[in-house]
Amino acid sequence: MEIRALIEKYKNEIVEKTQEIIRIRSVEGTPAEGKPFGEGPYKALEYAVNLSKEMGFKVEEFDGYAAHAEIGQGDELVGILVHLDVVPEGEGWEYDPYGGEVHDGKIYGRGAVDDKGPAIAVMYAMKILQDLGVDFNRRIRIIFGTNEESGWGCMNHYLSKVKPPTMAFTPDADFPVINGEKGIMVFDLRYPLKEDGEVKLIDLKGGSAPNMVPDTASVTLELEDIDSLMERAKSYNGEDKIEINVEGKTIQIRAKGKSAHGSTPERGENAISNLMAFLGEVLKAGSLKEFARLYNESIGFYHNGEGIGCGFEDEISGKLNFNAGMIKYEDGYITLTINIRYPITSSAKEVYAGMREKLKDTDMVIVEGSDQKPLYVPEDNFLVTKLMDVYRSVTGDYDSKPIVIGGGTYARAMENAVAFGPVFPGQEDVVHQKNEYIAIDHLMMLTEIYTKALYELSR
Ligand SMILES: [Zn+2]
Repeated sequence: MEIRALIEKYKNEIVEKTQEIIRIRSVEGTPAEGKPFGEGPYKALEYAVNLSKEMGFKVEEFDGYAAHAEIGQGDELVGILVHLDVVPEGEGWEYDPYGGEVHDGKIYGRGAVDDKGPAIAVMYAMKILQDLGVDFNRRIRIIFGTNEESGWGCMNHYLSKVKPPTMAFTPDADFPVINGEKGIMVFDLRYPLKEDGEVKLIDLKGGSAPNMVPDTASVTLELEDIDSLMERAKSYNGEDKIEINVEGKTIQIRAKGKSAHGSTPERGENAISNLMAFLGEVLKAGSLKEFARLYNESIGFYHNGEGIGCGFEDEISGKLNFNAGMIKYEDGYITLTINIRYPITSSAKEVYAGMREKLKDTDMVIVEGSDQKPLYVPEDNFLVTKLMDVYRSVTGDYDSKPIVIGGGTYARAMENAVAFGPVFPGQEDVVHQKNEYIAIDHLMMLTEIYTKALYELSR
């Protein structure tokens, strides 16, 4: 078992290098000459470049945005996409978030598992293959990005300079293999609010990001007959989600909900939907009541677009996910910002067409926005089968199957790419949390899996 012996030989180095790169606070900062994402991400990139050179890899740099390092021969190319930037540390850490301290067999620090530890594991996997002197039929290239957490500017620049690899994986999500990601749309629905005397809308707001289920929403209204509204409010069930404040002729209504990620709206409870359900009950008439009615009928508490003409699904990726992430009132319009994850066999065009048909006799207008196309590499594809084989043989987990998700991973930056680790099924999720860590045993197992995976993919 030559590979195991080499991993054991490099164990201390792998731990040390992971600690060292964690000590670089590579949060996006102020851009400077040659440092498009600020000092931190640049320093981390410089570290990886220097280590690659020490290891004898062929290195190329791309203006401080990204770099790659290569071994092997062959026309075709296997890419491994890693990122060296991190999200800010946040509060409440038990250890220094940039200390790289080891406690209880775990290396602590921001970026330990997302994505610096896995990046070091892949670099040593390449070094081990080089040490073994294996013959390659495909070259192996690790690609270092520096802006995964905040905009992917690194990959836009990189791919404007270099042809993408023939196939790629990113160790920046979950095991076993994520071979499909739904399409992601963000767009607005706009509704012109008419002035109609009885109720005056002063303010309406809810949510803070399209891809989050909002946990609060509020409306401020001015109206003459507050008493009869309060009377109707009494018979509304679901009061615990609604809080009302009256001051003269002004009434403020706050709705509560439960936050969740926009790719899994069914795990949360939408505060905008709670607010609209309430308004639909207690308002007597008028343009705002009409909006609430339309909202409740077409969006309401549906999570899969079935009320608004886009309830698509397919066998591989399941149902469309629909999240009403934000609402506001401005210049006479109510604007809803919607985040949709559509199945891989569907398209933004189909989603818009379905909604347009459903909304055609209403005042609601669709304002088209962004569309990230779905990603799918079939289960019987060379890349997926090889990675699954390696994962199974190293872990003994023969039950897990390739997965399709609604979220977006770094794999989306390229075609014919999948996510492969680093988090195992059922493992504690510490990504973007306080006390982020990677266990040393975990890091060693990653090195083994990635060494064997790169060997198989280079055949
Ligand atoms: Zn990441």
